[in-house]
Amino acid sequence: MALSIKAMWNYKCPRCRVGDLFRSPLQISKPLDMYKQCSHCQQKYEPEPGYYYGAMFVSYIFLSWYILLPTLALVFYFGWSVEQAMVFAIALTVISYLIIVRASRSLWIHIMIPYNQSYAQNQPD
Ligand SMILES: [Zn+2]
Repeated sequence: MALSIKAMWNYKCPRCRVGDLFRSPLQISKPLDMYKQCSHCQQKYEPEPGYYYGAMFVSYIFLSWYILLPTLALVFYFGWSVEQAMVFAIALTVISYLIIVRASRSLWIHIMIPYNQSYAQNQPD
């Protein structure tokens, strides 16, 4: 079993890597609008209530470091004021929030559900 960065980044089903996780195109009002199950292998995307609770921690940890490191670099290395750096941090958060939240859910389900090559090769019924 190997975690596929490509399948995770393209929001593909973790079991078959064929079906899509999220409905597209992305709607700002419903950023986490997922399919109920995979269109290819019928893997349920929310096996139990609160399944993506752990993804919240993944996005929190990733977003914190993703925002904190460049902001600290701007203040201590490039000499920006704290106010300028805060505006930068807020702008970076707004721009990248939806992508990181979706990627965290995708990472979470890819960690929990292993890839199975036999599902990838079978055609949908
Ligand atoms: Zn699938």
